[in-house]
Amino acid sequence: MLLLMSLLIVVFILFMFYFARNITEQVQNDNKQSLAVLKEDVVRLAQEKEKISEEKKFAEQEASDIFTLYDITKEISKKSYEQEAFEVFRATLKEKVSFEDCRLIHAEGDRRKKIPDSKDYFIFPLQGRKRILGNIIIKGLREQDKDKFIILAQQFGLALRRIILYQEIEQAAITDSLTGIHTRRYLLERFEEELQRATIKKIPLSFLMIDVDRFKSFNDNYGHLVGDKILKAVSFLIQENVREIDYAGRYGGEEFSVVLPDTDNEGGFFVAERIRQAIEEAVIEAYDTTAKVTVSLGISCFPADGKSSMELIDKADWALYRSKKRGRNCVTAFGVYKSK
Ligand code: GH3
Ligand code: MG
Ligand code: MG
Repeated sequence: MLLLMSLLIVVFILFMFYFARNITEQVQNDNKQSLAVLKEDVVRLAQEKEKISEEKKFAEQEASDIFTLYDITKEISKKSYEQEAFEVFRATLKEKVSFEDCRLIHAEGDRRKKIPDSKDYFIFPLQGRKRILGNIIIKGLREQDKDKFIILAQQFGLALRRIILYQEIEQAAITDSLTGIHTRRYLLERFEEELQRATIKKIPLSFLMIDVDRFKSFNDNYGHLVGDKILKAVSFLIQENVREIDYAGRYGGEEFSVVLPDTDNEGGFFVAERIRQAIEEAVIEAYDTTAKVTVSLGISCFPADGKSSMELIDKADWALYRSKKRGRNCVTAFGVYKSK
């Protein structure tokens, strides 16, 4: 009995020993597996960390590009002239991208600059609402920089549209829609300015009033459309016969006026006579008819005939009235009574 008991105890101990060994082995195996999984996790996490830091770098770059874009848009938008805006664009581009040459070329019809034939140039058209406003041409641009260039060029394109629109609105306010000559309001503003300058500098100034002779009869005989064409032609001839520094405008209806800075009575008379002759000699083509017109002119002069614009306008008007009285197609100076 005792032997049996001892045997049983030995068997039990052996069994327990075997069982404990198995458990230990299993735990060791489990540990190995967990270690492998942990190792894999560490590698994966390291890779993810690297990926995230790359993405962070990329995001920072993107943010910096967006800020640059915002800054350049803001800077360009402040500029009122296309060339100024373009200089801002080019300077910003230079910071971001390397290139040999970058220029703004105007749209078709503008012969100031031509697009070079060279294939080295990448040409970026600046699209307006209805037409191409111009082209940016760039030489030596690397392929990988093209996207950056295009984004910046598009921003410049938007700014250019705004600038051109602004210029057109400004131009429309100072230009008479029928004749393309300055409006009366613009002319009177310039007249005031030039008078102030003449007063300060003590220099003369002449003012011309021009009226188309018997214009009503042209309207009556040929119709208003022909009349309009005649007014356009007369405006053109007036502008052709004054200097760059003079201001010619439509005073109203078929009346025009010209401010001649730094011009005395004699000079004023000379210009008035030149205008009169040019119009007298012109054959104006209007649709299927040709017309010949004449004008009468009156001159007043600062400071001899008056100090204010109102006075000078009155005096030139009076002189014009004299020209009409004298038979039209002639020049009358308020001060020095002269005729052709
Ligand atoms: P005068 O030699 O005395 O100046 O005679 P006139 O016929 O030119 O003068 P009047 O003032 O009697 O007539 C001016 C005409 O100009 C009358 C008007 O219908 C015409 N007119 C004014 N503005 C325009 C315009 O924009 N287009 C056209 N077609 N005619 C105009
Ligand atoms: Mg008139
Ligand atoms: Mg008239």
